[in-house]
Amino acid sequence: MAKTSGRKAAKGGKAKNSANRKTHGKNGSKTAGKFVYLFGAKTDGNGAMKPLLGGKGANLAEMCRIGLPVPPGFTITTEVCTYYYEHNRSYPPALRAQMEAGLAAIERQTGKKLGDLSNPLLVSVRSGARDSMPGMMDTILNLGLNDNTVEALARKTGNPRFAWDCYRRFIQMYGDVVLGVQKGVGEDHEPFETVIEGLKHDRHHQAIEDTKLTVDDLKELVVRFKALVRERSGREFPTSPWDQLMGAVGAVFGSWMNDRAIVYRRKYNIPSEWGTAVNVQAMVYGNTGDKSGSGVAFTRNPANGLKEFYGEFLINAQGEDVVAGVRTPEPVSELKNHLPKAHHELERIRQILEKHFRDVQDFEFTIEDGVVYMLQTRNGKRTAMAALKFSMDMFKEKLIDWKTAVMRNPADQLDQLLAPVFDTRELSAAKAIATGLPAGPGAASGQIYLNADRAVAAAEKGQPVLLVRLETSPEDLRGMIAAEGILTARGGVSSHAALVARQMGKVCVCGAAALDVDYGKRTVTVDGQTLKEGDFLSIDGTAGKVYAGRVNTAPSEIVAGLINGDDGAKKTEKFKNFQQLMKWCDQATRMGVRTNADTPEQAANAMAFGAQGIGLCRTEHMFFEGDRIDAMREMILAETLEERKAALAKLLPYQREDFAGIFRVLKGSPATIRFLDPPLHEFLPHTEQQQEDLADKIHVPVGRIHSRVEQLHEFNPMLGFRGCRLGIGFPEISAMQARAVFEAAAMVQKEGIKVRPEIMIPLVGFKKELDLQLEVVRQAARDVEAEQKVKLTFSVGTMIEIPRGSLMADEIAQSAEFFSFGTNDLTQTALGMSRDDSGSFLPHYAELEIVKKNPFASIDVAGVGQLVDIAVKRGRATRKDLKLGICGEHGGDPDSIHFFEKVGLDYVSCSPFRVPVARLAAAQAALSSK
Ligand code: ADP
Ligand code: MG
Ligand code: MG
Repeated sequence: MAKTSGRKAAKGGKAKNSANRKTHGKNGSKTAGKFVYLFGAKTDGNGAMKPLLGGKGANLAEMCRIGLPVPPGFTITTEVCTYYYEHNRSYPPALRAQMEAGLAAIERQTGKKLGDLSNPLLVSVRSGARDSMPGMMDTILNLGLNDNTVEALARKTGNPRFAWDCYRRFIQMYGDVVLGVQKGVGEDHEPFETVIEGLKHDRHHQAIEDTKLTVDDLKELVVRFKALVRERSGREFPTSPWDQLMGAVGAVFGSWMNDRAIVYRRKYNIPSEWGTAVNVQAMVYGNTGDKSGSGVAFTRNPANGLKEFYGEFLINAQGEDVVAGVRTPEPVSELKNHLPKAHHELERIRQILEKHFRDVQDFEFTIEDGVVYMLQTRNGKRTAMAALKFSMDMFKEKLIDWKTAVMRNPADQLDQLLAPVFDTRELSAAKAIATGLPAGPGAASGQIYLNADRAVAAAEKGQPVLLVRLETSPEDLRGMIAAEGILTARGGVSSHAALVARQMGKVCVCGAAALDVDYGKRTVTVDGQTLKEGDFLSIDGTAGKVYAGRVNTAPSEIVAGLINGDDGAKKTEKFKNFQQLMKWCDQATRMGVRTNADTPEQAANAMAFGAQGIGLCRTEHMFFEGDRIDAMREMILAETLEERKAALAKLLPYQREDFAGIFRVLKGSPATIRFLDPPLHEFLPHTEQQQEDLADKIHVPVGRIHSRVEQLHEFNPMLGFRGCRLGIGFPEISAMQARAVFEAAAMVQKEGIKVRPEIMIPLVGFKKELDLQLEVVRQAARDVEAEQKVKLTFSVGTMIEIPRGSLMADEIAQSAEFFSFGTNDLTQTALGMSRDDSGSFLPHYAELEIVKKNPFASIDVAGVGQLVDIAVKRGRATRKDLKLGICGEHGGDPDSIHFFEKVGLDYVSCSPFRVPVARLAAAQAALSSK
């Protein structure tokens, strides 16, 4: 049956990974020591111990310490998880006695006993990694129940309905998580849910709410559940509470290596060595009746940042129900009407939490017969928009200082603030067809897909995808990553979809109940119309609205204010907060931020975002426009120096104009201009037809084009005739480029604008290469100065982008006035790995964790980083004031920026729209290095 395939695959994966782990795991894990930390009346841990106790365990301890009502329990440390994987899935011998002592402590505090036949203790078994991994690990509630203890619980509470509800929940969760009774491939529903549906139909002939099931229904459900477990797992459901406990603990540790957890860790670069902790905690019951319930809340609104109590709850439910989306929860403000005392208590706790943690908290609570218990708290995940508002508001409330406010804005999320919103004119014409909860702000328009695999496939084909589901679950993660936006029909603000969207910065609308999603037919019916997969829908995750068809988007307020000079946009709170943040960044930062720009327009955008000049202007891009490419081709096809010079003379005015335009925009800020870099064949046409057209156009025989293309063919163009090798082979090319720069400089200077060109010679490995080019550049400068009767200010430097350049940096610095690290090429050449060809093996390398991150996106600190470090040290040893920058892709990557701060570069350079991210990351790097 379907049961095996998915499960087996997961197990195969596990085995492989535990083998890996052995090879690079730490040796000699402790076999004796403290593995169990109590919390409750006596608390061993605290909030700072997240690496050892996991986030959940550490904060449960911290909440106990500040007197919040937490059911007692204990935490098994992450070291046990490490031990478990290093010792063939077994435990340190000392663990058992420590767990027994932990259990005894819970029993003393609650007056209940595990497996007792008069007053049985039930516990939850909860995973908790260092960083929260929502939905990745599975929690088991009501552990300790069997056919005998359930009767005892019923007698003791006088509430058989409640006792049997707990029992059926326990079998369901334990069956799923520990015994692997899960949805198989091709099954659309969880097998236990299918049994519930079946029972409702058999006994009530309709789909009633779970809370309407009678005691007899629940007893029958337990029988059917056990039969399902027997059929699917081939095992009897375990009856001994201790066996149940050990099984659950093993399952939590086991889940650390399940597929979902591995995918998640890879996305967020969490090392598998960290491991998870396990929390065992006395149960409190949200399902005893109408005075009980469970909920999830934020101390402020995590979607838009408003200072309001935000969250939701369900009456007569255990916590799982709230996130599972089976019943749609009510907003927390409604609790005022149902249970005013509990609401008041939660408000009090909300204040205490923010005062103590000084950050917005995301917490989970249960109300048992009117009494509030805290089950978890952590720093709330937030959208970039909320992060910005929280940080500004909390600064004004004096909860945090300005430096903390800067640190509170995740740099890698900041570009969410620059993401488009719906065009207001388009929007007024669009038809709103459904409303849901605004769970992830922004605008998304895309083609709908109802399942993760098909969403991924469509996205790979380049379609904008909107993932539409009844509700999402961790299995959908891949599809959610691939989608532009996520839309669900069920579930509230703490549903899986909302949680993940918040974290990934996805546009999301959830709980749009008007949608009728049919997985079988692959259709969505809404507002009287039926959409098929591939049809367009649009969602506004800021307002929670769904629109028919495709709606175009407009720039965000920040882009509108800064780039388009829109005064209305400048008055918005979002714009003002953003500007304040950037101002603080400037106060904190040591490194400058420049931009990679090839046109005046790009340069102007970057300057509006706060760039301090150009760190890389690629001159070859200028050759591709309009007729210039023909002059360029003439130059390449020239057979004599005279012909080549004639063609270059045609290019000169183009380049001069481009540079002049850029200098005017920069108004005296520096511009690093890189001379011709790519292999010449990139400029020639490669198809027969294109070659014939070119021959006609520039009047050369097609045979000549043909043979030149062949002549220029290289086996390894990346390592071929390119970079400064071109300028050395054809000094007249460099001479023309230098002349264009200086003539433009002279021209703009005469207009009264300061000009600071920095000429950069690419791909230098030998000092002599640079010297030869330097001579050409200086000659051009002298010529232009004489002709134009001006004095020019400029510098000449080099890119450090091949390992020899780094190693010989002391020598090269004798001639170079600055270095700019070309980390794209430096990574390619240091790793001997072509970036453009790495797609065929790098993903596999990431899976095997040979590389933890893509080295072309985030700098390989351990390897390539050394080459940067060496060049910095050796270069500065020769020339104390050597200016150092970086202009590769890594210049816009926050993690890489932290590294560049550490090695002491003067600036980073990145693409124009990345500039705010780099400014924030540079400021944070400076603050955290102090
Ligand atoms: P997750 O990490 O997926 O949020 P948790 O371990 O926090 O998993 O458990 C999920 C929910 O289960 C909690 O929010 C809470 O409602 C419920 N829960 C966990 N432990 C207990 C407990 N001891 N008593 C009552 N409910 C519990
Ligand atoms: Mg939780
Ligand atoms: Mg390069």
